[in-house]
Amino acid sequence: VTDALSRPAALARGVGWLPSGLRGELLQGEPMSRHTTWRVGGPVERFYRPADRLDLSRFLAAVPESEPLYWCGFGSNLLVRDGGLRGTVICLHPGLVAIDIRATEGRIVVDAGAPCARVARLASRAGLVGAEFLAGVPGTIGGALTMNAGAHGGETWSLVAAVETIDRSGRIHQRAACQYHAGYRSVVGPPDEWFVGAVLRLASGDARAATGRLRDLLARRAASQPIGRPSCGSVFRNPPGAHAAALIESAGLKGQRLGGAEVSVKHANFIINADGGSANDIEALIQLVQRRVLEVHGVALEPECRIIGVADSAQQGGPIP
Ligand SMILES: Cc1cc2nc3c(=O)[nH]c(=O)nc-3n(C[C@H](O)[C@H](O)[C@H](O)COP(=O)(O)OP(=O)(O)OC[C@H]3O[C@@H](n4cnc5c(N)ncnc54)[C@H](O)[C@@H]3O)c2cc1C
Repeated sequence: VTDALSRPAALARGVGWLPSGLRGELLQGEPMSRHTTWRVGGPVERFYRPADRLDLSRFLAAVPESEPLYWCGFGSNLLVRDGGLRGTVICLHPGLVAIDIRATEGRIVVDAGAPCARVARLASRAGLVGAEFLAGVPGTIGGALTMNAGAHGGETWSLVAAVETIDRSGRIHQRAACQYHAGYRSVVGPPDEWFVGAVLRLASGDARAATGRLRDLLARRAASQPIGRPSCGSVFRNPPGAHAAALIESAGLKGQRLGGAEVSVKHANFIINADGGSANDIEALIQLVQRRVLEVHGVALEPECRIIGVADSAQQGGPIP
């Protein structure tokens, strides 16, 4: 983590409330396209990467009530509109990324900025089984906890024993998993807190079998999903008893283009940024898919990805509101 806050430029543009001696990185006017897997998104006023928990606590204790805060991991489930965001985006990678594998206890103590794929690999190599599905989730543990990320029958919250959270005043809380209600790609728990770490509980098993399973799951993904193209994974939630991909495909939308955005021909629930598309292209294509699936099947698809920010600030005639 670079010590950007010690550079006068970081402090110069009117961020008077920053406490001195912060050790993380603060970027101003940072394009969110650099922090989302769709590679789109306008600028955020401030993008902050704390060096560690203490740095984050000090930042939060100083941040005024009026400053909008948003958290992101790898932006692998985020559509940030082209006009960007007001306030500060906080990202725990690469400051909080420790992964402590306690194989004999059947536990992993992990920071929320750690990549899911790394947790899955280290767990299976250590003979802890059940987290293999996380290998294909290209986000952080914080994002996986928020989204209750899941795949191939596994779900993040089925592994969680406890979490560590932080509130807006910078206070850390230890919470048991039973304080949260996890559902399909969602979780509800104590309000106004964000994840800084978790304790995962896994069963002991055979390391070779677990790593083999992990490789199989990745191979299945590579065969069925447009891995390597800019996307956010599945765009829509599966409606009860149906598959969004099948509804989209049978509505004749595979390969549908709008600007630089395209409904993947490999997996109809993926929209890829095929050709320098904007967030506006992607959002317009999301809406087109919703309209067409409603007309053809009478089913209202709901986005799984989180859509944030404002449309083009130029269109709105001014700076980020
Ligand atoms: C190719 C591809 C394949 C995918 N496959 C899957 C899959 O199989 N299963 C699946 O469930 N998802 C999948 N996804 C979607 C995505 O990877 C997951 O939703 C992931 O959990 C998001 O993690 P992230 O760290 O990138 O979070 P982000 O996209 O950065 O953020 C997602 C949400 O989490 C919040 N958040 C992030 N960090 C924190 C924190 N520390 N505290 C509180 N809130 C936080 C953000 O505010 C936001 O609301 C896929 C995406 C891609 C691109």
